[in-house]
Amino acid sequence: AALLKKDEVDIKGGWKVGQAVPYAALAKTFSLIEATTKRLEKTAILTAFLLLVIQRSTNDDSNSLLQAVYLCINRLCPDYIGIELGIGESLLIKAIAESTGRSLAVIKADLKKEGDLGLVAMNSKNSQKTLFKPKPLTVPFVFAQLKEIALTSGNASQAKKVGIITKLLAACQDVEAKYIVRSLEGKLRIGNAERSVLVSLAHAAVLAEREKASKKWSQDKLSTRLEQGTDIMKAVYSELPSYDSVIPALLEFGIMDMRSKCKLTPGIPLKPMLAKPTKAIGEVLDRFENKRFTCEYKYDGERAQIHRLEDGTVNVFSRNSEDMSKKYPELVDQMKKCIKENTTSFVLDSEAVAIDRTTLKLMPFQELSRRKRKDVKIEDIQVRVCLFAFDLLYLNGEPLIGKPLHERRELLRKHFQVVPGEFDFAKSSDGDTTDEIQAFLEESVKDCCEGLMVKMLETEASHYEPSRRSVNWLKLKKDYLAGLGDSLDLVVVGGYYGKGKRTNVYGAFLLACYDADSEEYQTICKIGTGFSDEMLQAHYDTLKPLELTKPRGDIKIGGAKPDIWFEPKVVWEVLTADLSLSPIYMAAQGLIEDRGVSLRFPRFIRVRDDKDADDATGPEQIAEMYERQSLAQASSKKKGGND
Ligand code: ATP
Repeated sequence: AALLKKDEVDIKGGWKVGQAVPYAALAKTFSLIEATTKRLEKTAILTAFLLLVIQRSTNDDSNSLLQAVYLCINRLCPDYIGIELGIGESLLIKAIAESTGRSLAVIKADLKKEGDLGLVAMNSKNSQKTLFKPKPLTVPFVFAQLKEIALTSGNASQAKKVGIITKLLAACQDVEAKYIVRSLEGKLRIGNAERSVLVSLAHAAVLAEREKASKKWSQDKLSTRLEQGTDIMKAVYSELPSYDSVIPALLEFGIMDMRSKCKLTPGIPLKPMLAKPTKAIGEVLDRFENKRFTCEYKYDGERAQIHRLEDGTVNVFSRNSEDMSKKYPELVDQMKKCIKENTTSFVLDSEAVAIDRTTLKLMPFQELSRRKRKDVKIEDIQVRVCLFAFDLLYLNGEPLIGKPLHERRELLRKHFQVVPGEFDFAKSSDGDTTDEIQAFLEESVKDCCEGLMVKMLETEASHYEPSRRSVNWLKLKKDYLAGLGDSLDLVVVGGYYGKGKRTNVYGAFLLACYDADSEEYQTICKIGTGFSDEMLQAHYDTLKPLELTKPRGDIKIGGAKPDIWFEPKVVWEVLTADLSLSPIYMAAQGLIEDRGVSLRFPRFIRVRDDKDADDATGPEQIAEMYERQSLAQASSKKKGGND
């Protein structure tokens, strides 16, 4: 299919080997992807484009593919470097006005009608008569301009940005302006998430190999290779999430051999392993029957992945790979003290927990959240942090993720030492009876933890699985045992204006879960109680800049009718007493019944700064929670009947 699509994504006359990739070809690819809702089609279209890019790049050029991929995921560099686009609406309106000669008022009116500035820019351009055809834009040129815009700061930066954008827009033809403006806004809106881009990249690499092969491949061989290629690409990227490293290796060694060349590297944060929820100790025992496992305290803080390079540089990364070194500057010093002599480079997985330095008592997450997020000066730090290390992923030049947990744990304890109040190993117990686990769980709660993490200790099942929510890690939270169930992480997609003294803020919010397969948000509930006035003001300040006049196309709305829509970005942790089927909301629709699932009496717990919108709870988890609840209700009714 991708081969057929090649003609569609190629522009008239194509481009020759060694020439810069025309931006028009990428823009055309985007519009074809946007025009279909079918996932396989989207993948095939992008595969065809990336295949052309690979085939028309010279041997020493990895930049063409790298830049094309970055533009497809709307980024300019790996996540952890944090150069971001996200230019405000007013600045873009100004640039569109300047480059097309239309007035600000007309553009604003169009925006209100269309709800998409990209579309407005494209229509404005296309209604303009031009005497000369501008010089065609290329991918490297657009990429460089976007980067310059993102890096421009300081005095007069606004004017400089408007200047660059105006020039870029002046050179746009056909659909180009639409995607340039959307890229600048930081949202491409073609319904193609990074996961799908990764699949297309793998497929394009496999197809390029096939076309180079001297012998024709059978259909079977092609299917096997596509599957293997996709698995390799996903595994490599979760261990080394940097296209800057992965793409040159892909082009140099080929997809089948890149696994051995792209390994975890200190300085590049890997996507963390996550756990599945469990409701009862019995469930843990069923899952780990006859296998060795360990229980660890589940600390209530913030995940911290600590990297130390051979040259002594220390980096602290968050759960979603943001560099937190400026938030936790003291950890660099703390790390020096806990390393034993024979330790040079490493990657530690740990939880940073607020601690009272005099009593050495742990404090809850709320305490930690009082810390400033940026530019923390060591002398100003009020809330002290102790690191609890629970895994060692890399040591002295060697990745350890393919070793069993008990070996990683031994190495961790051999190469690091406890510094009271600053560094410790996650407290663990290898006891495996219900009584032992129950006692350890109670102890963890007394020590201000959320409960336990239960982990497989031996064999392949205990390897570290980057980016996976794995059954080999189970979380046993005190809340589940109290019958409260797990909390959900939901995206704020809409707002309802407040009433009475709350008219200047939003008084309630529309929340949604995120379906990673269809890449859409599904509305789940309205939440409006339990907020203090200060909280509502803070939420207003965060959400106001994300206001949209129309809902984004990737929100499955159902019957929800908020007063205002938001760009899906902010994630909240929410607890619910009950899940119910709903004629209004869309979460998990079709998984249980035709109706969606909604939360009854949802309660706001906290903002999850460490999660992106696409890390929000998914519909399968919601359906699972609903079904567990129905089972629990059925069994308690039955018990009641027997009594
Ligand atoms: P939540 O933190 O709300 O439970 P999550 O999606 O961030 O959800 P989970 O997989 O559910 O992550 O739980 C794992 C989290 O618990 C880790 O991200 C980490 O921050 C924290 N944690 C605390 N103690 C441990 C431990 N001993 N082992 C692993 N993770 C731990």
